Amino acid sequence: MDNCIFCKIVNGEIPSSKVYEDDKILAFKDLNPMAPVHILFIPKEHICCADKIDETNSSVVAHIFEVIPKVAKELGLEDGYRVVTNCKEQAGQTVFHLHFHLLGGAVLNTTLA
Ligand code: 5GP
Ligand code: ZN
Repeated sequence: MDNCIFCKIVNGEIPSSKVYEDDKILAFKDLNPMAPVHILFIPKEHICCADKIDETNSSVVAHIFEVIPKVAKELGLEDGYRVVTNCKEQAGQTVFHLHFHLLGGAVLNTTLA
């Protein structure tokens, strides 16, 4: 999609530090990490947010959640980690291409909001 930062990362127009890639998804380091490990998992297809997940595209989300444990293990997160998605402005979404934050490498704040 035009003017979508994460679509540009998928097609190589914007560089990223990739930690995992296959034909359906990409995972790369967050530019502004909020934890010692902060990785973003995205579908290569443009889905704007979690609110637009439905029966036509949920398989890519399932795939992301299959890959997360493998990447977490590779990154040494056996003590635990958090997976978060912010959906729409009120929840703090700033990039409107579906992404899941993988956060770990430290004791994380447990406040939910
Ligand atoms: P959101 O606030 O939408 O949940 O998360 C967007 C995330 O994308 C933020 O944590 C921000 O640091 C990250 N981000 C924004 N632009 C870029 C970029 O160009 N490259 C990378 N690697 N991360 C980005
Ligand atoms: Zn996009």
